[in-house]
Amino acid sequence: MDKFAVLQLSGCAGCEVSLLNADAWVDRYKLVYMPLVISAYDVPEVDVLLVSGGVRNDEDIYNLRRAVRHAGQVVAVGTCAISGGVASLGDRDAVRELFIAEEGRRHVPRLLPRCHPIDAFVEVDRYLPGCPPTPELFMAVLFDLPDFQPSRIVCQECGRKKLKDMRPKHLLGFQQGEVLPDVCLINQGYLCIGSSTRGGCRAPCPRAGHPCVGCRGPSDTLIEKGSSAWFESIGRVFATLTDVPPEEVEAGLRSPQLALFLFQFSDYANTPSVGRAGRPPRPKEKVL
Ligand code: SF4
Ligand code: SF4
Ligand code: SF4
Repeated sequence: MDKFAVLQLSGCAGCEVSLLNADAWVDRYKLVYMPLVISAYDVPEVDVLLVSGGVRNDEDIYNLRRAVRHAGQVVAVGTCAISGGVASLGDRDAVRELFIAEEGRRHVPRLLPRCHPIDAFVEVDRYLPGCPPTPELFMAVLFDLPDFQPSRIVCQECGRKKLKDMRPKHLLGFQQGEVLPDVCLINQGYLCIGSSTRGGCRAPCPRAGHPCVGCRGPSDTLIEKGSSAWFESIGRVFATLTDVPPEEVEAGLRSPQLALFLFQFSDYANTPSVGRAGRPPRPKEKVL
């Protein structure tokens, strides 16, 4: 029986919960390490190492480098491991100051100046984006299912219809208004970014009436481009379907609701200001 382990760095454990919501791996894989449910001093030798969470402190670097030494294949799981994700909120000054104040009182790991994706430190064989990836996506990566092909973009899995004659003039807030079934959320004035986001999640958010916030990261056509290409692509979709002024769309894209995931669009393409500076873009063939 193949063995796998889950190394948790700085994240929220949501990825682990999603993995535990799937059970198809139980007959084929033996889970030998995952601090949420199985503790051990060290990560043993494994066929597959799933790594969740970003590299936020020196303990993360130590644990990551130790774990990959005995792994056949390394998979970066979730937005945090791929782009920093929620752990990047610690890059804000107020959070950093709070952490440093605590550092003086207890023994806590040393905070790095910013959060890094794991491929800033180790080689990664596959990327599984999502916050968290769905149980089905975990199965697809663990079993390397040849038939599993994520749709190009979330819109293809959403099922809502884009209409040419229903053109909102302004954006609605995320929680405002009554959502109509079957009609694209953009036509209803919501800032949905499913048209630029890679599919594979089966669009649970827009299907339920909540705009896609892009947790699966850029679609293949945008994956090796910078964030400006992504902004332009969303702008074009809104210009086609709405009369919302472009500056209002751009301001919405930079709002806190979306900021958590937006930076990852430039991170894939290796914008110099992010943690993978000096490394080539991530090859799309490695991204599930
Ligand atoms: S990717 Fe999302 S679910 Fe996974 S650890 Fe990060 S914040 Fe949590
Ligand atoms: S933009 Fe959003 S709501 Fe519209 S089809 Fe795409 S995913 Fe669905
Ligand atoms: S619909 Fe969008 S936000 Fe929701 S899981 Fe899929 S990619 Fe993530």
